[in-house]
Amino acid sequence: MKVDPPEHPTRSLHYDDAAYSDAGALDRELHRVGEVCHQCRRCLPLCPSFPKLFDLVDASPEEAAGVSQAGFEQVNELSFHCRLCYNHCPYTPPHDWDVDFPALMRRHQLARAQRDGIPLARRLTTRTDWIGRVAALAPALMNFANRNRLSRILMEKLLGIHRDWIQPTYHSQTLRRWFRGRGARSEGSNGRVVLFATCSVEYNDPETGQAAVEVLERSGVRVDVHYERCCGMPFTDTGDLDSARANAEANVAMLLPKVEAGALVLVPGPSCSLMLKEEYPRLLRSEAARRVAAATRDLMEHIHQLARDKQLPRDFKQRLGKVAYHAPCHLRAQNIGFRSRDLLALVADEVVLVDACSGVDGTWGMQARFHEASLGVAKKMLGAIDGAKHFLGNAERGVVEARLHAPGAVHARAGIHQHHLVGDERQEVARAKANVLG
Ligand code: SF4
Ligand code: SF4
Repeated sequence: MKVDPPEHPTRSLHYDDAAYSDAGALDRELHRVGEVCHQCRRCLPLCPSFPKLFDLVDASPEEAAGVSQAGFEQVNELSFHCRLCYNHCPYTPPHDWDVDFPALMRRHQLARAQRDGIPLARRLTTRTDWIGRVAALAPALMNFANRNRLSRILMEKLLGIHRDWIQPTYHSQTLRRWFRGRGARSEGSNGRVVLFATCSVEYNDPETGQAAVEVLERSGVRVDVHYERCCGMPFTDTGDLDSARANAEANVAMLLPKVEAGALVLVPGPSCSLMLKEEYPRLLRSEAARRVAAATRDLMEHIHQLARDKQLPRDFKQRLGKVAYHAPCHLRAQNIGFRSRDLLALVADEVVLVDACSGVDGTWGMQARFHEASLGVAKKMLGAIDGAKHFLGNAERGVVEARLHAPGAVHARAGIHQHHLVGDERQEVARAKANVLG
């Protein structure tokens, strides 16, 4: 097959370059890559984007060349930016064909957002830090609204969030409040870190952050907890570059002095750590962003390093039995190996690696219009965890979630990620949960 090289390799273009959002250049690149994918078809099972693309190609007498702009927009809508197809593809740079499907989908999405604007409802759902701040003032009210059928139907109509999507629980005791009241308890014989709380751990899952602080301090690490605002990933998901940049700037300004003082930045969420590591330097193009990115580690990546350096105490109080560990897509995109799995192997009898997509990826899976497609993507993952004794749903919920070093008995409840309790699949997850509690 003869394939022309790209006019402008998408990955090397900056968001501000004229060619990045040039409609003609984008159209030609969509058709060029569409033709390569059509000939290859290796990514067919990965997500709904590829079956849609191949259906459109097969329905057109001119094959990929005949796919319309509207057709490519349907393909784009179904891409939830897991980035799996990048690692799957043999034609990524430096290959001459220079195929970077996720970067092309992002470019197409930003062009659409510039052309059509972003609906207010989508803008509101991406304000996870604002929502968290307000919810922490009256968590009982927010949790009631999130569980009440009537308000969920209203939410679906107004905000497009599917009524069966399990909304996270909010708490008045956020991670930072807890940490301010408690203070740091290690002098830092094994280095200093800043735990960048993330919206999800700060507002919805402070227990995981508390466990992280305890495990790190038991390992001699000096921990500070900081969180200026959301990392900005939901904004890049919707094409709101200005908001993504504003958040990146605020977070870099907050983190840089700590990095310059010698601290690493630990992030207990793979989408957020990917954002800091890869997207901040691209968004801001500043030395400050590059320095923060270079100092950023996924939380479990760092704890794994402590274990390798024999700095992680191993006086585990209880073995975990059989554990299913789900490797999130945005962690795999970081190419740092399966650190949570390796840590769990220290304390579990068997670790089942669930190497399948949850179909959530940021805010895509919660949207009513993608609900069915999201469940379809999650099916393989849910099937794989069935039968394991514990299901530890996400990177930040590995050894830390199990609180191996917490005072008293080991806290080994299942770390079932609420985001996986979706719609009709609840039965399957409930069975997995019953295995834990039984
Ligand atoms: S990034 Fe993920 S969702 Fe998007 S096209 Fe690739 S595999 Fe599909
Ligand atoms: S992204 Fe790469 S591996 Fe996937 S279908 Fe296209 S050319 Fe093939």
